[in-house]
Amino acid sequence: MPGLFDSLGGDDSPRAETDAVAGWASVAVEGGMDTFPEGLTYAVPRGLASLGPGQRVEVPFGRGNRRARGIVVARMEELPSGLAAGRVKSILAADDRTPPLSAHLLDLAAWISRYYICPMGVTLDAMLPAAVRRGAGLVTQTMVDLPAEAPTSSGRLGPNQKSVLATVADLPAAKRPIEMGELASLAGVEGTASIRGLIGRGLLIGTQRRSIRGGDGIEAHAMLASGPPPELTEDQHRVVSDLTEVLDQGFSRHLLYGVTGSGKTEVYLRLLERTVAAGRSALLLVPEIALTPQTIGRLLSRFPEVPVSVLHSGLTPAQRHRQWTLAADGTARIVTGARSAIFAPIPDDSLGLVIVDEEHDASYKQDQAPRYHGRDVAIRRAQQAGCPVLLGTATPSLETWHNTTARHLIRLHRLPKRAPGLNLPKVQVVDFGKERRRFNDRRVHLIGPTLGKGLADCIADGGQALLLLNRRGYANYIACSDQRCGWMQTCSECDAGMVCHRPERRDHPGPEFLRCHHCDAEQRVPRTCPECGHGVVVFGLGTQRVEEELRRILPDLGPEAIVRVDSDSMDSPRDLHRVLEALGRGEVRVLLGTQMIAKGLDFPGVRLVGVVNGDTSLSMPDFRASERTFQLINQVAGRCGRGEAAGRAIVQSFQPDAPAIRLAALHRFEAFAQGELEDRVRFDLPPHRRMARLVVRDEDETKAKAAAERLLENLRPGAAAAEVELRGPAPCPIARIAGRHRIQIELLAPSAGAIQTLLQDARRAGHLRPGEGLAVDVDPVALL
Ligand code: ADP
Ligand code: ZN
Ligand code: ZN
Repeated sequence: MPGLFDSLGGDDSPRAETDAVAGWASVAVEGGMDTFPEGLTYAVPRGLASLGPGQRVEVPFGRGNRRARGIVVARMEELPSGLAAGRVKSILAADDRTPPLSAHLLDLAAWISRYYICPMGVTLDAMLPAAVRRGAGLVTQTMVDLPAEAPTSSGRLGPNQKSVLATVADLPAAKRPIEMGELASLAGVEGTASIRGLIGRGLLIGTQRRSIRGGDGIEAHAMLASGPPPELTEDQHRVVSDLTEVLDQGFSRHLLYGVTGSGKTEVYLRLLERTVAAGRSALLLVPEIALTPQTIGRLLSRFPEVPVSVLHSGLTPAQRHRQWTLAADGTARIVTGARSAIFAPIPDDSLGLVIVDEEHDASYKQDQAPRYHGRDVAIRRAQQAGCPVLLGTATPSLETWHNTTARHLIRLHRLPKRAPGLNLPKVQVVDFGKERRRFNDRRVHLIGPTLGKGLADCIADGGQALLLLNRRGYANYIACSDQRCGWMQTCSECDAGMVCHRPERRDHPGPEFLRCHHCDAEQRVPRTCPECGHGVVVFGLGTQRVEEELRRILPDLGPEAIVRVDSDSMDSPRDLHRVLEALGRGEVRVLLGTQMIAKGLDFPGVRLVGVVNGDTSLSMPDFRASERTFQLINQVAGRCGRGEAAGRAIVQSFQPDAPAIRLAALHRFEAFAQGELEDRVRFDLPPHRRMARLVVRDEDETKAKAAAERLLENLRPGAAAAEVELRGPAPCPIARIAGRHRIQIELLAPSAGAIQTLLQDARRAGHLRPGEGLAVDVDPVALL
């Protein structure tokens, strides 16, 4: 981008002239190859002598000396041995617009790059948002003022210039310096040539100021709350005072384990308040900020005087840049956002508290390189800053629970009861196999008699209901109507079925179509079976079909009173907020959706929560299937009973006796965790073991298999020495996605250290080149 870098110019040869060199630097090139940990060595030209670590620069890269961007990771006085000065290229320019990354962030990047086996350049890319790197919305303004001493002779002035000078002279001191364009319009002159002329002659002083245009973009994403803060309950009070005590005691880890609606958010707010009052800044991570406008609203309403920076996906690039800068220059005292907000550039000496809300949430794990876990990075960051980190949840991840109860690394704080006046909902599990037999027509029924009656009663009583179905689309199976044939529609690029969708907009009726949820390929619904020519049938479930059924069984509700929320029906976070506002006003009576509605909602009118398919997530080929199911049911059931009226939840399930479902219904997390942890020990799985997963990908299946075999052979000697168990190679549960075959190798060991030893050695030996052909996932959370 022109003008981005202050180029030194004049030097066509990128090689360093030794006498013009002010030292050496190691640079991690953006997106570049894996040069961890050193980066590439470059000469620092004299003109850039003050260049420090964290600074973004432009360097010649590769054979053709392509201009590439990178970040200085270290400065060296001496050239590393083995390098000849004449062969080292020179840094071309410094990007003085992007503030340098702090020492802690650089260090954090190095840790992530090492631990998660990801090139430093790729890690730094993830750390520094594209909007910041591009300088989105950045404008340079000229601020105009009178010189300290008026020049003796002003020479001849034109009428415009006279008018400008008079205008500046008349300005009250507080209004100066004034932006050049504003001055021009105040003085009633067209263009700024006359002002520039005056600056050139020394009659006015012009200074450059950079600012980022575009508003904050925060309020639009928050649902503001009102009213004074509630009086803390005894339990909340105890937790707040225990945690206040450790606020200035250096690094410590804490778990706030409190049932849904127990007032965890209130505890966060008090701790944020104390941190800010003590003159420090705080970081609050939330799972998906677009889905939690209420939490952000509570934050903004509670601290109207405190500058808060909100980093989320709904911001324009300029807004994101602005929010980032507010954190970087120390203006923002509270920074909040989803996973990547853990990289917010809060000054190193200022960070005083890190909070991770809903720490169990899978969205904290990034599913592309760097495959970091936001919660674990948060712990690391708190350790660097020497401050406490607080993880909060009603359903701790088993990793966190294990680290708390067995390893005693994390201190436990409990909120066992709901906030005053609120009661946990009664959760009823219905056996959906039996329920379905109670219908005597041949129609498809996704909502059984119990849930149907519950809904009708709730609506008749003036209540509101939430209905969870963890599947988008209309129906998820398309098959031959002749069972003897057995043909089923799969995606041509993935080893997975396709999902039938109805077009979204009612004003654009079109035919149903099929979509692959792994590669997004679409096609028409075939009329006949390609194998035998019989007709095809569409079956299974999806949110669109449940919506259809809801409208049928609740005919008295108007079209606006039933709303479906999933990533197909919602185009932007704003859409969701509109729906939630309508829910708050009581206009929406039944809200149906995917897990988008399972989190963070706090609406007193919601009296019934229905789970259409309680066990869908149980059948996933993933050892965390039970844990996820427990979390989901517990979280979604927790959305009701937040008002005066008692809450009720109904869970439909084909496996009503599965522990995850039975115990979630009884709100018995600890009993569930105990049984589940025993299973993990029995099968040698996390958190009892640490895990890493390597996925080899290739369009050619034979090549993929061969590459995986080679990788395994390369790992085998080190694995034996480090006592790491290797499992595989084997096809991934979804053996092909977007045309690429996927073969996995799993690494399991009693400690993270053992896996690290093996992976680092393999990396140094060049056996792990993360990229298109290989994904390395340390502490994986998704195993498909
Ligand atoms: P959690 O984060 O544990 O789900 P919240 O902090 O959202 O719980 O609290 C649930 C509801 O109870 C909110 O509406 C909140 O305003 C209210 N609340 C929290 N603490 C108290 C309290 N001490 N007294 C009265 N109401 C409270
Ligand atoms: Zn596909
Ligand atoms: Zn057929």
